[in-house]
Amino acid sequence: MRLFIAVNFSVETCVRLIRLQDALRAVATRGRFTTPENLHLTLVFLGSCTPAQTLAAQAVMDAVAFSPFPIAIDRLGRFLREGGDIWWAGVQSPEPLMFLQRDLADRLRIAGFQLEDRPFHPHITLGRDIIAPMPTKTVSPFGETVCNISLMESSYTAGKLIYTPIYSVLSNTPEA
Ligand code: ATP
Ligand code: MG
Repeated sequence: MRLFIAVNFSVETCVRLIRLQDALRAVATRGRFTTPENLHLTLVFLGSCTPAQTLAAQAVMDAVAFSPFPIAIDRLGRFLREGGDIWWAGVQSPEPLMFLQRDLADRLRIAGFQLEDRPFHPHITLGRDIIAPMPTKTVSPFGETVCNISLMESSYTAGKLIYTPIYSVLSNTPEA
């Protein structure tokens, strides 16, 4: 199973993200846009996992402790790619988010997962293979309080990319 750990969003946040996509779609000459149900913030990408690794990842999620914390989306950006860029909505990096991501990654490594070493740049992919002029970078900040994280399975079903939550944990310490 191809797995990653992510934050999923409320309907309200998704609606705001869809509006950003719509603005981008209006100026793009090309692109594949993330479907609304697939909008998410990846914390850690695990890749292909055995059933034993899947259980180990769940145990790590059980072991991390985090209080609910707010996140805010405040800008647009892109990763330049040959033939079409990846466009994303940038998430601010408050300490609780960064700490949770680091804690998960550290514990997963201790549990034997070989994770990529690239620094964590919290973002929500809005679309791929996009050819568009750079629009205004800043957006009026919006967001929500993160109260749970999910282990997601990434699969192709009938040619359609589907992310399915297979395990979730709630914040387990009181709000700071
Ligand atoms: P596709 O690869 O089919 O175009 P996708 O990238 O959305 O679609 P996955 O590759 O399964 O689907 O990735 C799931 C999530 O993990 C996405 O948010 C993706 O950006 C992220 N991700 C994938 N590979 C890595 C990686 N090597 N490092 C960090 N994040 C990754
Ligand atoms: Mg990918």
